[in-house]
Amino acid sequence: MVDKPSRPILRLKLTPKPPPPPEPKVKQWRCKPCGALIDTPMTLEDDESVRCPSCNARLGLARDFRGDDPNTAKVRARPITTA
Ligand SMILES: [Zn+2]
Repeated sequence: MVDKPSRPILRLKLTPKPPPPPEPKVKQWRCKPCGALIDTPMTLEDDESVRCPSCNARLGLARDFRGDDPNTAKVRARPITTA
C-alpha cells in the first residue's frame, strides 16, 4: 500500500528579514484637545486614524505621526521632543 502524503510538505523558505520600521523621531505626543500623552502609533496601518485614548478625539492618520518627518501640521497633537 502506497501512503503518499496528499498535502505538499511545507518547505522552509529562507526569506530575508524585512527592514525594521523607521524609528520614530517623536516618541510621544500630547493630545491638543485634552492634553493626554499618546505614544507614536507603530502598530496602526498608515491610513488608520489615531484616536486619543483619553478623549477619543481623532488626531490624524498614523502615517502623519511616524517616521523621520512627522506631519505635525496635519495632526491634532503636539510632538513631545525629548532631545
Ligand atoms: Zn485627548
